[in-house]
Amino acid sequence: MSPDSAWTGVRVCVAGIARSGAAAARALVAHGAAVTVVDGRDGPAQQQAADRLRALGADVRLGESDHLPEGSELVVTSPGWRPDQPLLVAASDAGVPVWGEVELAWRLRDPGVPWLGVTGTNGKTTTVEMLAAILTAAGRRTLATGNVGVPVVEAVTADPPYDVLAVELSSFQLHWTSSVELAAAAVLNVADDHADWHGSPAAYAADKALVWRGSGTVVVNADDAPTRSLAERTAAGRPVVPFTLGAPPPGGLGVRGGWLVDHEPLVEVADVRPPGRHNLANALAAAALARAYGVPAAAVRDGLRAFRPGPHRIARVATVDGVDYVDDSKATNPHAAAASLSGFEDVVWVAGGLAKGARFEQLVVDIRRRLRAVVLLGRDRLLVAEALARHAPDVPVVHVVGTDTGVMDDVVRAAAGLARPGDTVLLAPACASMDMFPDYAARGDAFAAAVHALGERR
Ligand code: ADP
Repeated sequence: MSPDSAWTGVRVCVAGIARSGAAAARALVAHGAAVTVVDGRDGPAQQQAADRLRALGADVRLGESDHLPEGSELVVTSPGWRPDQPLLVAASDAGVPVWGEVELAWRLRDPGVPWLGVTGTNGKTTTVEMLAAILTAAGRRTLATGNVGVPVVEAVTADPPYDVLAVELSSFQLHWTSSVELAAAAVLNVADDHADWHGSPAAYAADKALVWRGSGTVVVNADDAPTRSLAERTAAGRPVVPFTLGAPPPGGLGVRGGWLVDHEPLVEVADVRPPGRHNLANALAAAALARAYGVPAAAVRDGLRAFRPGPHRIARVATVDGVDYVDDSKATNPHAAAASLSGFEDVVWVAGGLAKGARFEQLVVDIRRRLRAVVLLGRDRLLVAEALARHAPDVPVVHVVGTDTGVMDDVVRAAAGLARPGDTVLLAPACASMDMFPDYAARGDAFAAAVHALGERR
């Protein structure tokens, strides 16, 4: 990266030393800024990252993260930090700008490289990865980046540069943007999630709408009422491309005769993976963004055919005694779990974990007719249990108590005892995993290991 004199000596505080914070610090140091990195944690992972950044010339302070370092002119925060964190409050009280790593990347980018963006409560990673597959099939050098893969601040400084970026943006990341303008951006859906971070559902939706800042193409899920109304309120007068699982609307994308189509056929429904209607919606969004960027229909087809979905997203683990075991550990909120459950008929549902302020009433009402039984685990399982007691009182519920990772063996054993041949045992927890596991992948792996162990005992 070539140093940029505008940054020389600028005193920047980087809040958080995890992946995006470390990447931001490296980029800032390379540009000549005077960087102080702070993090409240002081464990081995933080120590290691600190050593690497100190070697580059950054000042790193671990174990104390409430105070804004003296003289800071800018704060670059990690997406996990809540806006009410004392350091961030101090910065805003002092009139010091707070950016996320995505905003920093935008300021450091090559303006000739367009960004195509995706946000939404669920389906972001799947959609940007589909988009990257389509762009690659069209012969463009591209990367799925942002909330997935390498941080954007690294993607914008890649050598040789990318032609176009497929950027996944979480509501947290969007909250800390102030000038990012995407060439085209999709909102997939807006459902309750992360109320604890944003303060209210309205604030969460407003942060999602920031993906449409500027004058680029607005891609909207016309089947999702909250998303539609968000677009009506925030994107008036802009080029809008709606997509729907119904017939294609004027200027938009839809499904007709077993094909995803816009003004021409794009790809056969049967070629879209993973299964499920929600993944057709994701594919339509990816196609809409690629088309807005000028990609031909054949590349949409080739890209989606070549696309391989990430693990833990409706991944079939095994069939034991005629029962299918499916890992959708990535269903970390009620909206995702609803999409997941709606793909199966007779389900032993494995749910629970960290609720993050979510409610489960509507989910249970929507999917109760599919439930054979429910196995609950994790810290907030009683919240799910209450919704079940109220709206599905006849469905058997088993609680598996404990928070050590070995609990998953008990969960799978309980589920096996409740399932009948032809049923599906579905891990779609509607909750985050961090009360018991490092992340959703570890939770899915524990489930799969327990299922394989069950198969071996048979
Ligand atoms: P994100 O990156 O937004 O978390 P993913 O693509 O990783 O989304 O998918 C997360 C989970 O959300 C999936 O495992 C699936 O259960 C569900 N999901 C995926 N796409 C959608 C969608 N369009 N609508 C609702 N749920 C979805």
